[in-house]
Amino acid sequence: MSFPPFRTNWRSLAALAAFSLAAGSAVAAGKPLHARFVEIEEVARITPQRAPPCLRSWKPRPGAARPPSRRNSRLPRATRCMAWAGMPRPLVLCDQALAIGRRTGDNDIIARATLSKAYSLFSLGQTTVSHALVWQAEKLASTSEDVRLRVLTLISSGESFVEDGNFPVALGKLQASATLARESGDPLLIVISLRSLAILHDRMREYGKGFELLDEAMRAARQIHSEGRLALLKSTEYALAMDSNQIERALQAELSALALQRKLDAGPMIGISLVNLADCYLKLRDFPNALSYARQALEQARLLNDQALAATARINIGQAYLAMGRMAEGRKSVQAGLAWFEKSGNKPDLQMALGEYADALARAGDQDAAVVAYQRERALLNELFEQRRQKAMAELQERYETDKKQRQIELLSRENQVKSIEIDNRRLQQRVWWLLALVLALGAIVVGTLYRKVRKANAQLQIRNQELSEQGARDPLTGLFNRRHFQEFMRTCHDSTQHGAGGDTVGAIFLLDVDHFKSINDKHGHAGGDAVLREIAAALRDILRETDMIVRWGGEEFPAFLPSVPRARLDEVARRLLTGIPTRTIEHGGAQVSVQVSIGFAPFPLLPGTDVSWERVVNIVDMALYLAKGHGRNRAYGISRVEDAGEAGLAEIEQDLEQAWRAGRVALAVVPGQQPQLHAV
Ligand code: GH3
Ligand code: MG
Ligand code: MG
Repeated sequence: MSFPPFRTNWRSLAALAAFSLAAGSAVAAGKPLHARFVEIEEVARITPQRAPPCLRSWKPRPGAARPPSRRNSRLPRATRCMAWAGMPRPLVLCDQALAIGRRTGDNDIIARATLSKAYSLFSLGQTTVSHALVWQAEKLASTSEDVRLRVLTLISSGESFVEDGNFPVALGKLQASATLARESGDPLLIVISLRSLAILHDRMREYGKGFELLDEAMRAARQIHSEGRLALLKSTEYALAMDSNQIERALQAELSALALQRKLDAGPMIGISLVNLADCYLKLRDFPNALSYARQALEQARLLNDQALAATARINIGQAYLAMGRMAEGRKSVQAGLAWFEKSGNKPDLQMALGEYADALARAGDQDAAVVAYQRERALLNELFEQRRQKAMAELQERYETDKKQRQIELLSRENQVKSIEIDNRRLQQRVWWLLALVLALGAIVVGTLYRKVRKANAQLQIRNQELSEQGARDPLTGLFNRRHFQEFMRTCHDSTQHGAGGDTVGAIFLLDVDHFKSINDKHGHAGGDAVLREIAAALRDILRETDMIVRWGGEEFPAFLPSVPRARLDEVARRLLTGIPTRTIEHGGAQVSVQVSIGFAPFPLLPGTDVSWERVVNIVDMALYLAKGHGRNRAYGISRVEDAGEAGLAEIEQDLEQAWRAGRVALAVVPGQQPQLHAV
């Protein structure tokens, strides 16, 4: 049985974390210091037992460049402390280094500390966290100016991807590290990166490419005379050769490795090489040599106190014995080895060992024992297979659940986004509607107010206009219509009545004049005269109809137009006026004022079927009034008939009414007033 290849990957040595960190941090303090750290790291890598004394003897050399700044001066001190204390407490130290990195804002220190922490956690079996930290460190270092740091983080990243089973990405990372290492021209970096790349090619079963890379790595190792690195490369060559079934080449490579390891006194590596050589000889059926190397391996395991190595060596010893026919010794030795694997719970190695044991027993002719061993091996294999299957299923399930959850979260967040946009839209729409409603309401209020105001103003205007027109049409003293209104009225009335009147009902124009009004004024004063005028107006309203138009002409003359009176009753109207007015009691200044009037009147139209204007009729009525005055006052003279003698006849009447009356061209009705009981004058 060989020692499982690459199991002692240098990353598994937690103590190295502190050295690696110290070496990296020292870059900041200057080249010589850095070079010294790299040396110590190499010692630790190949012969770990020599590292602590090496560190203890290390002091900054006199004349070495002093740290240029306060910030840098703290770094070597901190990392030195870590290196001193490094072995037992690497995780604590990594956290301290992380804190320093964060405090100083130095990404390189953070990357190194993160990487070291990843190594420590790996050694504690926390592979998943370790991988995550490695990738974090790689990201942090990707922009660093420190090429060594970049190469180392790339290698660690690649190896983590190998362990994760992601070979394509691992290949990319390790190829990038190799390119960077070659560009840097640093042989040590070339050796480290190419060895990792070769191991990956071995895993990918591309053995030719693996050997090629190892050759290049060995040239670089020789360049720096690093026998430790050469020994490591030879061991890797052994693994490649074994995997590609080149047992003789594997033997030669491991023999070379062993020679170099012995020269360097690289204890753990010697033990592994010895056990591997025993395995090689077993496969080559050189049992004495196999036994010899296995025994040496057991001895070395005792020296190193390495139980796993001892168990492997015992299995190899047992196989050699079995092959040599020493059955009892063989069984005993193998079973001792198996017991340790069983105790340590290392089932994969136990299964491999059982397989080899069954083969060895079968070859030695102990078929029964071989079957038993074989059955155990099968059962274990099934168990392991089941374990792996379950683990794979669990991982798959976890990945599926994570993906599902992620998808659900994305879906939910998208739904949320859509919903929140919808809510925003609705809110906005509502706001717009509210605003619109408010604007409309305000608009309605404003329009309503304005409308009411306008309506009110219009109504007031109408009233005012009416008042004005009323005022314009009325006589202020008596409230009767004035001359202007009368003229206007007569003009329209004349238009509508000139042809219509005829028969028994006629229109009529009356004209009243107060007798001796001047004397009333003189006697009772102007106010007394006014009172008389107001009373006459009242009397006219009482005596005449509402439909009749009563007017104050100016002074003490009152025309009236009666639109519809029976022709035969014109005289009677005149009589009512002549008698009605004087009966009114007018008091002024404690005295009774009596008054009489004279009246002239005529029908209108004057002659049925003729077109005599109202002005001409008023003129004739005025002449009749004049006759009434002239014939003693307190009486009425009215035109009762007119001879139809055309325009010339009418002109003659207008010229001299009295003359025309005497000539019989016109007939006048004379209506006397009552004789007064009290004489007015
Ligand atoms: P007659 O009988 O011939 O009609 O004589 P009379 O005095 O009434 O006639 P006259 O035309 O000579 O006088 C009219 C007077 O009326 C003259 C004027 O002072 C007066 N008068 C005119 N208007 C008013 C008025 O508004 N109030 C008053 N108190 N007197 C007025
Ligand atoms: Mg007069
Ligand atoms: Mg008069």
